[in-house]
Amino acid sequence: MAPKIVLTADRPTGHLHLGHYIGSLKNRVDLQESYNCFVMIADIQALSDNFDNPEKVRDNVTEVCKDYLSVGIDPEKSTILIQSLIPELFELTTYFLNLVSVSRLERNPTVKAELMQKSFADSIPAGFLTYPASQAADITAFKAELVPVGEDQLPHLELTNEIVRKFNRTYKTNSLHECQAILGKVKRLIGIDGKAKASKSLNNAIFLSDSSDVLKQKIYSMYTDPDHIKVSDPGKVEGNVVFAYLDAFYDDKSELESLKKQYQHGGLGDMVLKSLLNDTLQKLLKPIREKRESISDAEVMDILINGSKRAREIAKQTISEVRNAIGLTY
Ligand code: ATP
Ligand code: MG
Repeated sequence: MAPKIVLTADRPTGHLHLGHYIGSLKNRVDLQESYNCFVMIADIQALSDNFDNPEKVRDNVTEVCKDYLSVGIDPEKSTILIQSLIPELFELTTYFLNLVSVSRLERNPTVKAELMQKSFADSIPAGFLTYPASQAADITAFKAELVPVGEDQLPHLELTNEIVRKFNRTYKTNSLHECQAILGKVKRLIGIDGKAKASKSLNNAIFLSDSSDVLKQKIYSMYTDPDHIKVSDPGKVEGNVVFAYLDAFYDDKSELESLKKQYQHGGLGDMVLKSLLNDTLQKLLKPIREKRESISDAEVMDILINGSKRAREIAKQTISEVRNAIGLTY
C-alpha cells in the first residue's frame, strides 16, 4: 500500500517560532520517516493580509525554508514547495468557492479571531475571508490524508472536509479525499506576552533563529504572576508564561510538578524558574541556530524549485480528475 500523504503549510510572514516547533514542525520531522510529506510555503495566502507588503512575503519564503531545514525537515524525504508555483491550486480554489457560502466563511472562528486582530475596518479583503477555501484546495490537490497543525487550524480542516463531501456528492465522484488533523504535543503555545497564541503577526514569540542574547532577554521579560512580589509569596501557575513554556519544553515532568507545588506554596523565585527555562531553551535552540547559519540562500532556492516541480505534477493529476468530474473536458 502506498504511504499516506501528509501536507502542511506555513505563511511566510516572518521567521518560525517555538509555537510552530511544538505545534507542528516536530511532528513533521517524525512523519517524514514513514509518510509521503509535502510542506508548503503559502506565499499567496500570506498576501491576503499583506498584499501591500509583497517584499515581506518574498523575503520570508527563504527564511521559512531555512527554518524547516534547521529543525530537520529533509528535502530528500519531504517535498518542500512554494504555493505560487502551483497554479493548479488557484484553479481548484475557484471551483471550491462555489461550494461554500459567504455566511459559512464568516462563521469560521479562526478567521473571526484574526479579523479582530487586524485593522481592516470595513474593508476586509475578499481574499482574506476566503483563504480557508484556498487552504482546502492546497490540502486536496495533494490528496493529503493527514495534516499536522496547531489548534487554530481545526475549523479550516472541518471546512475542507465539508467541501470535499460536497464536491464528491455534487459531481458524483470519489476523487477528493477527506483529511484528519494531527495535533502537536502543545495544541496552542501562548505568547510570551501571555496572549492566547504565540504568532508571527503579533510579534510575541520566541523565534527559532533568535540569538542567544535575544532568547535570554525574552525569557527574562516573560509575564509570571503580578502578585508574586516577594520570593516567599505564594504564586500562581495558571496563566504564568514561564510555567506554560516549561510545560511545553522541560522534559523532567516530576521535577516540574514539585517546582509548581513549591511556587504555589511560596519560596520559589521567578528568577530561578526563568534561569531553568533559559537553560532548557538555549540547549534546544543552539543546534537549530547553528544548522540554520550553515544554509545558503542558493541552496534553499534550489530545494524550493525542485520540490515545487515535483509537487506540481501531482496537482496537475488532481486537476485533471477534477475537470473530468465537473465535465470540463473540451
Ligand atoms: P501569522 O501570525 O502570520 O498567522 P502564525 O504564527 O499564526 O503566523 P502560521 O504560518 O499561520 O503561523 O501557522 C503555521 C502552522 O503553525 C499552523 O499549523 C498553525 O496551527 C501552527 N501554529 C502557529 N502558531 C502556533 C502556536 N502558537 N501554537 C501551536 N501551533 C501554532
Ligand atoms: Mg496564523
